[in-house]
Amino acid sequence: MLSVTFWGVRGSAVTPGPKTLKYGGNTTCIEVNAGPRRVIIDAGSGITALGMAMRKEPPGLVDILLTHLHHDHIEGLFFFPPIFVPGTEITIHCGNLGGQSPEAALRQCFSPPLFPLSFDDVPARVRFRGFRAGEELDLDGLAVRTHPLHHPGGATGYRIDHEGAAVAILTDGEHTGARPDPRLVEFVAGADLVAYDAMFEQDDYAPHRGWGHSTPQMGAALVRAAGAGRLACIHHAPQYDDERLARIEAEIAAISPGAFLAREQMRVALSVDAERRVSAK
Ligand SMILES: [Zn+2]
Ligand SMILES: [Zn+2]
Repeated sequence: MLSVTFWGVRGSAVTPGPKTLKYGGNTTCIEVNAGPRRVIIDAGSGITALGMAMRKEPPGLVDILLTHLHHDHIEGLFFFPPIFVPGTEITIHCGNLGGQSPEAALRQCFSPPLFPLSFDDVPARVRFRGFRAGEELDLDGLAVRTHPLHHPGGATGYRIDHEGAAVAILTDGEHTGARPDPRLVEFVAGADLVAYDAMFEQDDYAPHRGWGHSTPQMGAALVRAAGAGRLACIHHAPQYDDERLARIEAEIAAISPGAFLAREQMRVALSVDAERRVSAK
């Protein structure tokens, strides 16, 4: 079984409050479970709730795949509960630094005066691994494909295939033309679920061109071109409240079958049968 749980779906800034209760205000964190294996994509503020849920489990290996190092994708790392559990071994992977490890940059954030502790002070053992987006990763036997995304400083898209089902997670990234990039189409071809940076609705995109984010409509075009399953819009703009997001969701569902805006703590189970059914609960 391949499943995806959205722990943080907001982009750029944490947005708590009564107007974001439906979709959630925590920044990016997505859990992918491939059978017994767990992979965590991004360490935005949503990773704190995931870490709380992991408290019931014995300490073990944790893989965190960062799309890039912008604050909204790492800000939850400081209060990720497993980092304070002895016996936990955390590997943080990052692919947008030209092959360099994210260690130096993360150590700068995770040290005084920005944070009272360093990675050497916490009970968990933390390792760092750099790669170049486009390489295939081998996480102890679980293959993870990667793809470079168009974003200031670069970002990495991930694709995980398991038992005939597949999910692609593409954030942060901006489309580069009127049609989906053929290399991205190839990357997500046939995936059952495509989580896509659809931060700005179409009418709001022009003033934000060049910011490195895309639209629900471009996500729908990508899914269609790739023969993929459902579109999950993620990285919601912090200035969009639930009412506005619900309207955007209705609009995109009308043009892309099964498309939705991801909500915090939503779990999508991907199962394969003759019709390649995708069930959400
Ligand atoms: Zn972001
Ligand atoms: Zn970013």
